[in-house]
Amino acid sequence: MESCDALIVGGGPAGSSCAWQLRRRGMDVIVMDKANFPRDKVCAGWITPEVAEVLQLDTVDYARQHVLQPITAFRTGLIDGKEVETRYPDTVSYGIRRRELDDYLLQRSGARLRQGEPMNSLQRDGQQWIVNGAISSPLVIGAGGHFCPVARFMGAKLGADEPAIAAKEIEFEMDGLQRLECQVRGDTPELYFCRDFKGYGWCFRKGDYLNIGLGREDNHLLTEHLNQFCDFLKQRGRIPLDIPDRFHGHAYLLHGHSVRKQIGDGMLLVGDAAGLAYPQSGEGIRPAVESGLMAAATIMEAKGDYRRQQLLPYTGRLVARFGEAAPSVSAGPAFLRNLLAGRLLYNKWFTRHVVLDRWFLHTHQEALQTAETLEV
Ligand SMILES: Cc1cc2nc3c(=O)[nH]c(=O)nc-3n(C[C@H](O)[C@H](O)[C@H](O)COP(=O)(O)OP(=O)(O)OC[C@H]3O[C@@H](n4cnc5c(N)ncnc54)[C@H](O)[C@@H]3O)c2cc1C
Repeated sequence: MESCDALIVGGGPAGSSCAWQLRRRGMDVIVMDKANFPRDKVCAGWITPEVAEVLQLDTVDYARQHVLQPITAFRTGLIDGKEVETRYPDTVSYGIRRRELDDYLLQRSGARLRQGEPMNSLQRDGQQWIVNGAISSPLVIGAGGHFCPVARFMGAKLGADEPAIAAKEIEFEMDGLQRLECQVRGDTPELYFCRDFKGYGWCFRKGDYLNIGLGREDNHLLTEHLNQFCDFLKQRGRIPLDIPDRFHGHAYLLHGHSVRKQIGDGMLLVGDAAGLAYPQSGEGIRPAVESGLMAAATIMEAKGDYRRQQLLPYTGRLVARFGEAAPSVSAGPAFLRNLLAGRLLYNKWFTRHVVLDRWFLHTHQEALQTAETLEV
């Protein structure tokens, strides 16, 4: 039987960030993923500079071999409505391709990798966990995304009972003609809200790649909303008329909309497995990375005693960073909210300072202090 100090199930940003920190502190880490990397991941692929900072990503070096699209403006509005353009003096975000970034981070983590291997079974044997009957570890970190098998083991009712965001998107490389027809600029992603404010569509150009998608709080008529959004973009001449029609779907939880257990004896959940995406924007890479780092810091402090009690500081860190996971309270009758929000979206001050700076860019929240995450 193979053994390690920590087994991480899932090599996305949450799993690879956790592995990277644990390896830097000298732990023997295995990352198991059902996919072979580089693998595709349904995602718009937008990260804020704070993500690059906490990951200590050398953006100049990264951009030599990968797509890294600096973002300095946004076009926002309502689907079928007017648009507002908001420009910034500096880079406020980056567009990346998930198949590239995730592979880069996973390889960089220094962990032993078991790719193309799904986690199928988990058993307790004394102080050890036995995974797939083949690997023994005192610690299992669930980083398998929304449908993480470790979260299921800890009692999460995946796909049932949980109010998940449902989203569909496509990312494709444009040919020469499509590049000419596409009016979306790389430095200016476009975000358009559904009229009932239960979701929004986006259109991101990253180099020669175009990413179009729409996510909603409810799964109801998702495809119809998406088709309506694509028609709107085409009518406005924003995107080529002949985009591929094979959109891919995925679901995930917003922090505060649902509560999953985050720790157990010798067990932690990070990233989407723990349901941590920001509720206003659906951004999940930053909470995935940060939770991976906070889990690593907690593990180092526990000094080999991984009983649930010793892992409690992890949940404390999550609350301090993201707030309590209490279900959010609706602010007033829907028609009033929609009316107000519809008007406010055309207000330039509100768009810049509230919608973009606060909800989408989280400029009020500095990058996670690495000193804190490295503390032993
Ligand atoms: C349409 C869409 C657009 C989005 N756009 C953005 C965006 O622009 N910016 C942003 O910040 N966030 C975005 N998000 C959210 C973001 O994609 C997630 O929050 C983020 O990927 C979470 O990272 P993670 O590491 O927790 O999980 P994941 O990235 O999902 O990684 C989980 C890994 O676990 C592996 N795995 C799953 N099951 C098993 C198993 N049984 N055994 C072994 N391995 C397994 C998977 O193969 C995968 O590699 C978007 C989400 C969607 C659906």
